[in-house]
Amino acid sequence: MLVVVAGPSGVGKGTVHTELRRRLPDAVLSVSATTRPARPGEVDGVHYRFVDRTTFEGMVADGDLLEWAEYAGNLYGTPRAPAAEAVARGEVVLLDIEVQGALQVKAADPDALLVFLQPPSFEELERRLRGRGTEDGATIARRLEVALDELAGAGAFDLEVVNDDLDRCVDELLDAIAVARRAATDDVAF
Ligand code: 5GP
Repeated sequence: MLVVVAGPSGVGKGTVHTELRRRLPDAVLSVSATTRPARPGEVDGVHYRFVDRTTFEGMVADGDLLEWAEYAGNLYGTPRAPAAEAVARGEVVLLDIEVQGALQVKAADPDALLVFLQPPSFEELERRLRGRGTEDGATIARRLEVALDELAGAGAFDLEVVNDDLDRCVDELLDAIAVARRAATDDVAF
């Protein structure tokens, strides 16, 4: 089944996903395509598939993406085939994506579990984004603006979890995945 853990930039999605995969051995992380330039240390095909806008638009036109969205000036999307193959094998496919994309996933596959990661507070989100040191001031300001919109969409998710304590947060996620998994089928709906 598909499990989306979404939430604003800086909420700690990456850390939660890493811990989830450690504790859920048959979970795989979907590798998104993006037009964003790679950050230092990011590897093509591992963190993202880095493509130019023309290539991305071709993927959209060909129906190769399960969902996609524009986020802070760049395009991001989930390749459909690898996710569908993993679901057919009965694996849990984790998607680290933003809110508009999450809602598209639910529309494509009602079995998908949508989890919204909440920061303990907006101030804490800003502190984490600045502390990460991967973006300049203007980019952080833009991401915080997007975050306000994203927080407003949390109610459409199946579950909201506050990321104040990593272990507790992952415990809650694993419980929810176990329940959703019993209800889901391995049929690929998308
Ligand atoms: P970043 O540039 O920090 O890696 O990601 C920016 C935002 O895009 C994050 O909220 C991340 O979860 C989201 N994102 C990454 N991949 C995808 C994707 O395939 N689809 C969508 N809709 N959002 C994505």
